[in-house]
Amino acid sequence: MKIGILAVQGDFAAHAAMLRQLGAEAVEVRTVADLAGCGGLILPGGESTTQLQFLREGGLYDAIKKFVDAGGGVFGTCAGAILLAGEVLNPPQDSLGTLDMTVLRNGYGRQLASDIFFGKSKLTDAPMEMVFIRAPIIERVGKSVEVLAEYGGKPALVQQGRVLAATFHPELTSDRTVHQHFLRMLSNGHAENPASSPKDLRAKKAAAKRK
Ligand code: GLN
Repeated sequence: MKIGILAVQGDFAAHAAMLRQLGAEAVEVRTVADLAGCGGLILPGGESTTQLQFLREGGLYDAIKKFVDAGGGVFGTCAGAILLAGEVLNPPQDSLGTLDMTVLRNGYGRQLASDIFFGKSKLTDAPMEMVFIRAPIIERVGKSVEVLAEYGGKPALVQQGRVLAATFHPELTSDRTVHQHFLRMLSNGHAENPASSPKDLRAKKAAAKRK
């Protein structure tokens, strides 16, 4: 299966290298046409404000939403997780809104708050290596979101159906656990909880705004 990696800005090359080590085909995505034929998509870390602007300008913003609605699997790391969140704070920012969670940008502090942590996860028995770089804090998750790992008492790896998000950078370690999980997730057919699909989430968000 071909996996696209949004290659606008940030550490997309590290994701590609990790996917290739796991035997998957990785392609760089910069245009709507690049996304065609991809079975999964990775939104890498970087600066979410810059990435969002690029997505809007090139039409990828709508294309990615459609991709998720059509059952495509997406994995966002750090800035990518911010782009997926239903609500972004500190400061408030628009997003794709495909994952029912609230994130606080630069939640651990702006420049110095970077950390490497070995913590428990639901994915393996061994401690998982988590690299945090100016990471967001996941402040709230919806009922249909599963927390797969935590850091400092807050969710750090979460999944809702076929949307996966990490506030850390698994691509910057030699620990392949999370990417392996993403590939497994993609080959597993449909979302586990179709009742809380991203489409429903956006409809709920729009209804809440109208109130
Ligand atoms: N602080 C960045 C943002 O808010 C995310 C940092 C990262 O991706 N490592 O977009």
